[in-house]
Order: sequence, then structure tokens, then C-alpha cells
Amino acid sequence: MTDCLFCKIVSGDVPATIVRESAGTVAFRDINPQAPTHVLVIPRDHHPTVGELAASDAELLAEMVREAHNVAADEGVAETGYRVVFNTGSQAGQTVFHVHAHVLGGRGLNWPPG
Ligand code: IMP
Repeated sequence: MTDCLFCKIVSGDVPATIVRESAGTVAFRDINPQAPTHVLVIPRDHHPTVGELAASDAELLAEMVREAHNVAADEGVAETGYRVVFNTGSQAGQTVFHVHAHVLGGRGLNWPPG
């Protein structure tokens, strides 16, 4: 999609600090980190939400989750604990409608989330 910020990160038209890549995904640091580790894992292909991705390409969703775990391992937070979040819809705080998994770790994370 030409007007999608995260598609532009995939294409290299918008710079990002990329920490991992796989065949179907790119992982980069969030520009406004909410924890010492805050990385976004996105599919290279444009899918607006996790629900739409699950319906159209479940294997790509599984690849995103595997990569989220690999990011946590690379960042040294896989053992202490980390959170994978898919904000879905505006009321849940989704602002970029190119599905992304937030990988958060490196500090205590409260429950329930705000
Ligand atoms: P959402 O609110 O769940 O849609 O998450 C979007 C995330 O994208 C937010 O945490 C933003 O800080 C992050 N973000 C927005 N623009 C950029 C960027 O250009 N590079 C990296 N992260 C970004």
C-alpha cells in the first residue's frame, strides 16, 4: 500500500532501526519505546489487523509470533519474561493499520494493562 507507514519501512522509504528480518517479516525498534525492549514485528505484506491476517494467512501470523520470540531471545528478555501485544482497532489503541506485534520486555509489566 503506497500510503502505509509500515509498508514504507519494509520498502526502505522510511528509515527504521531494523533488528531482525525473516522471509515474511521485518522487526524494528519502536520510535516511542514503552520499555527497555520495545520492538515491532510486521509482515512484509500489507494486512490491516491481526484478525484479517489470521483469516488470510495463518502461517504468516505464526511466523510473526516465532519472530517475536526470536526478538525476545536476541534482546535477552526471553527468560525473564516479555509481552507480545496486537492492538486491534482504534479503541484498543491501534494507530497504524498494518498489523504489528509489539514485543515488550526489560522491566516489570503490569496487569491488567491500561
Ligand atoms: P499501535 O498504536 O499499536 O498501532 O502501534 C503503533 C506503534 O508504531 C507505536 O508504538 C508508535 O510509537 C510506533 N511508530 C510509529 N511510527 C513509527 C516509526 O516511524 N518507526 C517506528 N515506530 C513507529
